[in-house]
Amino acid sequence: MRECFEIRDTDAGGRIGRLAVPRADVTVETPALLPVINPNLDTISPRRLAEEFGAEILITNSYIVYGTDDVRERALADGLHELLDFPGAIMTDSGSFQLAEYGEIDVTTEEILEFQYEIGSDIGTPVDIPTPPDVPRERAESELETTQERLEVAETVDTGEMLVNAPVQGSTYPDLREAAGRHADATNLDVFPVGAVVPLMNDYRYDDVVDVVAGAKRGLGSDAPVHLFGAGHPMMFALGVAMGCDLFDSAAYALYARDDRYLTVSGTHHLEDLDYLPCSCPVCTEYSPAELRALDDERREEELAAHNLHVTFAEIRRIKQAIRAGNLLELVEERARAHPTMLDGYRTLLDHADQLERSDPVSKGSFFYVSHESARRPEVVRHHRRLERLSVPDSVFLTEGGPARGDEFDDSWRVEPPFGPFPRALSKSYPLTAEVPDRTDRSALRAAADGIRRLVEANPETEFTLGHRGWPEDVLESVPERVDRIDFDAGDE
Ligand SMILES: [Zn+2]
Repeated sequence: MRECFEIRDTDAGGRIGRLAVPRADVTVETPALLPVINPNLDTISPRRLAEEFGAEILITNSYIVYGTDDVRERALADGLHELLDFPGAIMTDSGSFQLAEYGEIDVTTEEILEFQYEIGSDIGTPVDIPTPPDVPRERAESELETTQERLEVAETVDTGEMLVNAPVQGSTYPDLREAAGRHADATNLDVFPVGAVVPLMNDYRYDDVVDVVAGAKRGLGSDAPVHLFGAGHPMMFALGVAMGCDLFDSAAYALYARDDRYLTVSGTHHLEDLDYLPCSCPVCTEYSPAELRALDDERREEELAAHNLHVTFAEIRRIKQAIRAGNLLELVEERARAHPTMLDGYRTLLDHADQLERSDPVSKGSFFYVSHESARRPEVVRHHRRLERLSVPDSVFLTEGGPARGDEFDDSWRVEPPFGPFPRALSKSYPLTAEVPDRTDRSALRAAADGIRRLVEANPETEFTLGHRGWPEDVLESVPERVDRIDFDAGDE
């Protein structure tokens, strides 16, 4: 068990946790948002972030502090908390991003970590190599090797109570991300940012983001706090949390505001295109879009940044509530409708349903079947696996309805898309209590047929008969041939 991180609730891959940050003497509840603060210009002051928005942690760039003479002197003399006037935890980035953007930075891992320690950072970051997507494998491997050497150096630096990030790189190679995760997890470092995913998000490659994070998560232990580095749009937080990410940082709230862009959980709007404000935060209840447009530049930027933050923090709270209520995946499905590329992200997440299933609670409040993607949720995967372990008599009638036929069969099991068959005794237990639409779809039927196949293949001695309501031929094809079929809709009964 990792000392600084405690997991309280889980849902799919998501979790509510507590990250203890000893140097700041605060405990941060996760999933948490870290607003990015530029020490040279803050749109919303750190004090206001804490008091008005409830920010428990923020992130600032130690390389900017290091490189700006007067800021550096004040940070060294008074400490970051005093400099920024922030009572919560402060994470510092090392400047790897600058490395990626501008090619070179001129400090070593020891120097930048010691500097972060000296200015009073609570969570410091070594200088890793943020390998971009799609590079040749040899480059991804050799840069990962450098990052790993630096993590090993970071382990030896005396940083007192400061927690230290262990970035997980590996470009778009899931197996390298997995190896990187395993290596990082084996160090004595504390928090695990999945790095260099910004270029993927800028290109709306949410499917690749999911594969990369899933790889890193396979390597990291389930008790490792994970930071999805650079993911600041609230549209993707639910997906990120469902993958198992605990920390998110947002520069977007300020950068978008500077550009007159208005964040929502389903995308971004340009202020000039808005006739109404679809939000009830203090900014959106005080101003109309025309009034916002009429403000001077600095004021408008500040008000838009405040709205962007309200939306962002509200989404984090909504996600936590969803984890507590056990309907995080319903929220992810809803968010996936915001953009076709988000839907790609969700569909890719479901490719990893096996992986999610390991942390998904056995029992939750409700399972709502709200799209055909629901047929691939971890609960369905788990039920199918369970079917292989249930004991069955010599002959079983699997039926979507109709009479039980106790005289013809030893037992009669319900068939419910998308889960498939189950003994009646289980019908009151999760997830078989699911709410499913009356007008079912092919994905649910296919999943049900797949469940039947698993049950039948696990019990070669048992005779099975399936009573279904008009299942199409292509669905019935996945039911093993030796199963007798009765189509109630065709009047077979
Ligand atoms: Zn608003």
